[in-house]
Amino acid sequence: AAKAAGRNTYRFFEVAMAETARSRVRLQQELGHALAAEQFTLHFQPQMKLDTGEVIGFEALVRWQHSERGLIGPGEFIPVAEETGQIVSLGNWVLREACRLATLWPEALRVAVNLSAVQFRSSSLIELVDEALAMSGLPPERLELEITESALIEDHDGAQATLMALRSRGVRVAMDDFGTGYSSLAYLRRFPLDKLKIDGMFVRSLDSDEDAQAVVTAIISLARALHLDTTAEGIETAEQLVMLKALGCDDVQGYLIARPMPSAEVAPYLTRIRGEGADAVHGTLGTP
Ligand code: C2E
Ligand code: MG
Ligand code: MG
Ligand code: MG
Repeated sequence: AAKAAGRNTYRFFEVAMAETARSRVRLQQELGHALAAEQFTLHFQPQMKLDTGEVIGFEALVRWQHSERGLIGPGEFIPVAEETGQIVSLGNWVLREACRLATLWPEALRVAVNLSAVQFRSSSLIELVDEALAMSGLPPERLELEITESALIEDHDGAQATLMALRSRGVRVAMDDFGTGYSSLAYLRRFPLDKLKIDGMFVRSLDSDEDAQAVVTAIISLARALHLDTTAEGIETAEQLVMLKALGCDDVQGYLIARPMPSAEVAPYLTRIRGEGADAVHGTLGTP
C-alpha cells in the first residue's frame, strides 16, 4: 500500500510538474509577444528622507498589462524572463522608460531602476546605460541602479569594473534586499556602492521581534562605517517609522508613505504633498 501511495504521489508530482512546465512555456511565449506589443508599464514608489520628510526620488517597478489577466506583478514574470534571457531586452526597456519618464517630472528627483544579475553582468550594460541617459537627457546623477547581492558573487573583478564605470559617470548604485542574500561583509568594503536597502522582511518584524531589531541596527551601523546611505523598504506602520528614525536610518519607502503609482500620478502626488507641507507630512507620520 505504501508503495502504491508512493507511486500515486509520484504520479501527482509528474502531472503537476508537466502543468507547471506548460504554463511556463506559455508565459515565455506571451512575454516575447508582450515586449513587442509594449504591454509593460512602470509604477513609481516614492522614497522619503526621514529627518526632513521630503521625497527624494522614486523607484520604478515594472508591471505587465496582460490582455486577459489584468495587471501582473514582477514576481510572476521576472524569474521566467531571467531564465530565458528575455530579461535583457525587458530590462533595457525598463531602463529607457524610467529615464524618459523621470525627465517629465516637475522636480529633478532621483529615479531608481532594478537590475537583474543577468543584466548587471551582461557586457552591454554600460553601453545601454549611456544610451538610456543620452536618449532621455536625464543627468546621470539622477539615476540610481538597484542590484542584488547575487550580481556581485560570481565575477568579483568584472563586478568591480562595472561599478567603477557606473560611478565614474555619476550613476549611483544601491544594494537591494540587503540581508537576505550571501551577505559576505568582505565584499561590501571592496565594492563602490552608495546605498544599502534594508529588506522589508526585517522592517516588517521590527515592532514585534527583537532579533529583527538587532539585524537592522547592525546593518545601519555597518552602512555608517562604510559611508553608505540606508533605505528601509516595506515600511507599513508609524511604529516602524519611529523605530527606524531612532536607529538612524536615512530614508524610507513603503505603503505608509505611498503605494507604487502610475507615472501620470507622480506630478499630482508631488503637488499634493508640497501643498500639505512638511509639517503635515510629519504629522501624518507621527513624527515631531
Ligand atoms: P524590490 O526591488 O525589493 O521592490 C520592492 C517591492 O516591495 C515592490 O514589489 C513594492 O511594490 C513592494 N512594496 C513596497 N512597499 C511595500 C510595503 O509597505 N509592504 C509590502 N508588503 N510591499 C511593499 P513589486 O513591485 O511586486 O516588485 C517585486 C520585485 O520585483 C522587486 O523587489 C524587484 O526585485 C523586482 N522588480 C520590480 N521591477 C523590476 C524591474 O524593472 N527589473 C527587475 N530586474 N526586477 C524588478
Ligand atoms: Mg528594488
Ligand atoms: Mg528591495
Ligand atoms: Mg524586496
